[in-house]
Amino acid sequence: MQDTSILDFEFEAHANPVAETDRAALLANPGFGKIFTDHMAVIRYSVDKGWHDARVQPRAPLQIDPACAVLHYAQEIFEGLKAYRLPDGGAALFRADANARRFAESAERLAMPPLPAALFRELIRALVRADRDWIPEGDGASLYLRPFMFASETFLGVRPAHEYLYIVIASPAGAYFKGGAPSVTLWTSDHYTRAAPGGTGAAKCGGNYAASLVAQAEAIEKGCDQVVFLDAVENRFVEELGGMNVFFVFEDGSIQTPPLGGTILPGITRESLITLARDAGVSVREERYSMEQWQADAASGKLREAFACGTAAVVTPIGRVRGRDFDFAIGNGGPGMLTEKLREQLTSIQRGTAADPHGWVDRLF
Ligand SMILES: *Cc1c(COP(=O)(O)O)cnc(C)c1O
Repeated sequence: MQDTSILDFEFEAHANPVAETDRAALLANPGFGKIFTDHMAVIRYSVDKGWHDARVQPRAPLQIDPACAVLHYAQEIFEGLKAYRLPDGGAALFRADANARRFAESAERLAMPPLPAALFRELIRALVRADRDWIPEGDGASLYLRPFMFASETFLGVRPAHEYLYIVIASPAGAYFKGGAPSVTLWTSDHYTRAAPGGTGAAKCGGNYAASLVAQAEAIEKGCDQVVFLDAVENRFVEELGGMNVFFVFEDGSIQTPPLGGTILPGITRESLITLARDAGVSVREERYSMEQWQADAASGKLREAFACGTAAVVTPIGRVRGRDFDFAIGNGGPGMLTEKLREQLTSIQRGTAADPHGWVDRLF
């Protein structure tokens, strides 16, 4: 049985951290995924030793052998979550336990060792505490955390690797969209699929993203913002975007989202919004929805709003959907009322300005 009590890890402070004035300048306009904090959290795994050598250390490039297994067979998984400033100057994570669970499930699908939830959580907490001055202030700003794990063994044989590295890096992020999310236009891929039954669609692995990029590039080439994928079997039912789940809002006030079932990533934002909607008495269906139905309901006015959701952009209204032989608008093309209300509810809980009835907010300090 693996010892999960190695929570007193090494801490090596950065000898030359970014100066306070430079950090303030970076935090004034961080963008997304471009600037990084001073430290990183690391733990190693080997078949012989299990999880060992946990540490928080200066962020620095890794040395990778050219025969490192991940470079060849792509055993890599990741997570994305945020640390938020609270009104009293403290900070909190949102549902990190759910990320820990999903990370372990992704690991199993990729034949990697699941990281115990306590280690997942404590390494993140240690990093955020070390880099606490990097959590930006202001509406929509947060410290984006990127835990990831990859096969680090030097070996070209095809089998699950015997060595892994789990690392957490942190990147200050501004409001993903300044002044509220603008609506996006989706391109419906009728050629590329994201995930097939029995595949890795429910795992958060880099390979899924690699496979989606050509479809995303096609969407951009068609003048759209994002690609929406249909199911791989019938090429009919809406699944999700490359990195966000989708919801539909109807004239009777009910909402619907495609059911999980192995080909859709089980989003924590998705699940949180389902819970908040049900708390508010909204009827929520997790049922398949075809592209023909979406088009017909948008035309008849039965469908009032649609939105995409995920940790990075939170809630993004969908204003228009295009495909090879169709092009339709949703509602008036702008953000809908229920979409806005759900976004507001979720972000208020995350920032500690609304009650947290489900215990989702995990205070760091
Ligand atoms: C991460 C991700 C999501 C959103 O998940 P959240 O937990 O809400 O951030 C949706 N789809 C895909 C493919 C993803 O990788």
